[in-house]
Amino acid sequence: RSELMPDMMCDVLQVLLQAQKELLNYSGLGISILEMSHRSSDFNKILNKTESLLRELLNIPGNYKVLFLQGGGSGQFSAVPLNLIGLKGDRCADYLVTGTWSAKAAKEAEKYGKVNVVHPKLHSYTKIPEPSSWTLTPSASYVYYCCNETVHGVEFSFTPEAKGVELVCDMSSNFLSRPVDVSKFGLIFAGAQKNVGCAGVTVVIVREDLLGHALKECPVVLDYKVQAEMSSLYNTPPCFSIYITCLVLEWIKNNGGSAAMEMLNKQKSSRIYDIIDSSNGFYVCPVDVSCRSRMNVPFRVGRKDGDEALEKKFLDGAHERGMISLKGHRSVGGIRASLYNAVTLEDAEALADYMTHFLREHHY
Ligand code: PLP
Repeated sequence: RSELMPDMMCDVLQVLLQAQKELLNYSGLGISILEMSHRSSDFNKILNKTESLLRELLNIPGNYKVLFLQGGGSGQFSAVPLNLIGLKGDRCADYLVTGTWSAKAAKEAEKYGKVNVVHPKLHSYTKIPEPSSWTLTPSASYVYYCCNETVHGVEFSFTPEAKGVELVCDMSSNFLSRPVDVSKFGLIFAGAQKNVGCAGVTVVIVREDLLGHALKECPVVLDYKVQAEMSSLYNTPPCFSIYITCLVLEWIKNNGGSAAMEMLNKQKSSRIYDIIDSSNGFYVCPVDVSCRSRMNVPFRVGRKDGDEALEKKFLDGAHERGMISLKGHRSVGGIRASLYNAVTLEDAEALADYMTHFLREHHY
């Protein structure tokens, strides 16, 4: 790996070891972060450090607020319309629906205003409709999309042109897996648990002038203006999850930042896609080549719609080799290899070797 990555590249295991080391005695204080008050100056230092690392890694402009909230990505499916759909009088928003997660977000937004799906309805989530087929609404308060559809393995390789309307993006499953120009967005959110930490904290990056437009029924904990004014401390934040995110961001920084993550993620995913593409149809990825995800690689084994017995055998064999969590989401079946930042090139290579071995054993 030394040829491919900076010398200091090392396993994210380091983060867990540090958390373990500090679990009972954080920074010589004699207590754990789990016991610490969220109002203490020590926790405040962690919160500030997490924010400044994120600002540095994503080059976040000064006119954006960074929030660390509870409620997960799903909480943001509600928070986004509650805070932003009232930006313009029509109370409407445009949605791109390219998979399970954006579909859920659009459905939730319908509770608070009018939702326009801007492209012809997709019968399967295997491609991103051509931008030329989108009809954007000039009076929409925002245009929403999910940059990486985790279940279906569909990822945007470009930033949509929102034509003067605020762009809102769910980056939960590809956050910090590649560089991003934050200034193109009104708001970005991401649950930490895939690429930047553990479950419990959701990062929201929002431009300042979008604060203060929440609907009156917006719960106070979801009100971006309130949370921004209180530096995410309106209520008790997920302290330990924020601390883990801080360690992961430090790890990303020490390993070359988002550009290095992108290089690594390209290499990892190419190893798997190359095997799929050279397998003469034994492995089949249903996703259009132009929008294949670098984070989640879904594929079927044996034939296009999957030979279930063979897929079970594939999963069992993988399990014997110590490779777990490869089963596709229950709504799509098959196999899904998730290659988040913490997955190493060696991990991806071990899967690729196993896929080659399984192919040789079963190809007919
Ligand atoms: N958005 C995306 C892209 C996701 O992958 C997920 C969960 O996997 C969610 C939103 C929902 O996140 P949560 O489970 O934190 O509510």
